[in-house]
Amino acid sequence: MAETESHGPDRVSEAVDVLIIGAGFSGLYQLHRLRQRGFDVRLFEAGADLGGIWYWNCYPGARVDSHAPNYEFSMEELWRDWSWTERFPAWDELRRYFRHVDEKLGLSRDIRFNSRVTAARFDAGAGQWEIECADGHRSRTRFLVACTGFAAKAYVPDLPGRESFAGPCFHTAHWPQDGLDMTGLRVGVIGTGASGVQVIQEAGRIASHLTVFQRTPNLALPMKQQALDEPSQRAMKIRYPDWFRLRALSTAGLFDLVADDRSALEVSPGERLAVFESAWQKGGFHFWVGTFSDILRNKEANQLAYEFWREKTRARIKDPVVAEKLAPSASPHPFGTKRPSLEQWYYEVFNQDNVTLVDLREEPISEITPTGVRTASRHYALDILVLATGFDAATGGLTQIDIRGISGRTLKDTWSTGVRTYLGLAIPDFPNLFMLYGPQAPTAFCNGPTCAELQGEWIVDCLRHVRDRGLTRIEASETAGESWTQHLADLAATTLLPFADSWYMGANVPGKPRQLLHYLGLQEYLAFCRESAENGYSGFELR
Ligand SMILES: Cc1cc2nc3c(=O)[nH]c(=O)nc-3n(C[C@H](O)[C@H](O)[C@H](O)COP(=O)(O)OP(=O)(O)OC[C@H]3O[C@@H](n4cnc5c(N)ncnc54)[C@H](O)[C@@H]3O)c2cc1C
Repeated sequence: MAETESHGPDRVSEAVDVLIIGAGFSGLYQLHRLRQRGFDVRLFEAGADLGGIWYWNCYPGARVDSHAPNYEFSMEELWRDWSWTERFPAWDELRRYFRHVDEKLGLSRDIRFNSRVTAARFDAGAGQWEIECADGHRSRTRFLVACTGFAAKAYVPDLPGRESFAGPCFHTAHWPQDGLDMTGLRVGVIGTGASGVQVIQEAGRIASHLTVFQRTPNLALPMKQQALDEPSQRAMKIRYPDWFRLRALSTAGLFDLVADDRSALEVSPGERLAVFESAWQKGGFHFWVGTFSDILRNKEANQLAYEFWREKTRARIKDPVVAEKLAPSASPHPFGTKRPSLEQWYYEVFNQDNVTLVDLREEPISEITPTGVRTASRHYALDILVLATGFDAATGGLTQIDIRGISGRTLKDTWSTGVRTYLGLAIPDFPNLFMLYGPQAPTAFCNGPTCAELQGEWIVDCLRHVRDRGLTRIEASETAGESWTQHLADLAATTLLPFADSWYMGANVPGKPRQLLHYLGLQEYLAFCRESAENGYSGFELR
């Protein structure tokens, strides 16, 4: 099938085989692999460049939490002559990496940039999706693969007077592409999630005064950043094939992150301390998911991890009142059930004279004024206001598109009482639509590029299966959707995750149904995907 470009808002082009939405790791992998398999593919991207979240999240300090070389594609043609300058690279280095990928694979020629998909309707008669972009461009495709990521829709809480703020005010995910200089200015940051921690560290160094508005303390972990050079990476590359193989077999998509099989409660206090300390010294996510197997499942084990974290963290904070707010005596939620961020000098920032920590549980924000933020206690004067308030994660990027399946009902309506997918890959009533890094898949519990490749391969194989048998339609069955959703609920109940008001549970956005949105356990998840494929795509109706 060949596509012809449409040249007016009302012209509908001929259909391509596959249309991909999103030019991050997931979409680019799909584009490359599906093209290799002979599909006629196009990709629509809302941003002006490649990179996915690294295009949008260009705020000061934005960097990955997955250490090199985990956060890259595993294809040798891509890593052979690519080197990182840091163990945890920043957004601008990621952008350079995506340019390198593009040069190697020639992806841009099939990408339409500045193309935000606003609507997708399934035409049951033709067995095709009709796609519409914000600029009026329309096209058709047999299969639609949504690689919109989990963070495509920023969440901004309802803050009275927000529009009245006279200075620059940006959500971290909508940071100006040409930057924003905070030097010598009074900066306020609302939110202390992953982006908050990163921007706070940078603002603390250059702002005349930094005011941090915290609702929930971030139980952040030391990143242990390291500079990397080319010779050392050249030596490491001998092991890359093994590392990438291990990455695909791991629990969280990170090759060297392996939890001890034992319970934290079955070892002696000395042994436990040694395991905790060793993980702590390694830095990164090791202390989160690389200690004992029951940290996220057993309250008592979890409490031990929290106490270890609290003692380590408090030792870095000078003022005991501030220390109690940042690392409270009682854990604000089970450790690790909200995503711990990686930090470099976060806690030291609060020892500086030019930094104020405002505890929003004690003094909630009453309004944003033209000159700052007013809380129940006082007014904080600001020149710049940063909204590090997170995302309508996992579902928001999809439900903001007017997607309609066979019944004509929108995805937003369909999920208004709760997400229901099969394998986090497909949705009953929405045939020929696949998602990557979406809800009810490992997503936030899995390293991005790992999922892009593993889920990605499953989709490529599935589409080949359908095409090679002369079929045109594949749809997740209602019962498969029901049972997968029940499985996620059962899985959640075996963990401590439901005890936190986290975005993992959809609990950061008022009115969003509370349910586990990410699958904990990459290998268990992949086994289900394999089983379906090996049984001729059980759980799907094909015709
Ligand atoms: C600040 C931040 C830091 C992160 N750090 C890490 C990390 O260290 N390790 C990790 O594993 N994961 C991290 N993540 C998760 C990250 O989302 C994944 O690693 C990875 O980006 C997933 O790639 P993706 O292609 O699935 O989605 P994304 O990178 O999110 O790309 C989705 C793309 O889809 C586009 N898009 C969305 N909707 C539309 C539409 N309607 N029309 C057209 N285009 C659309 C977007 O513009 C975007 O370019 C981080 C996320 C954020 C927000």
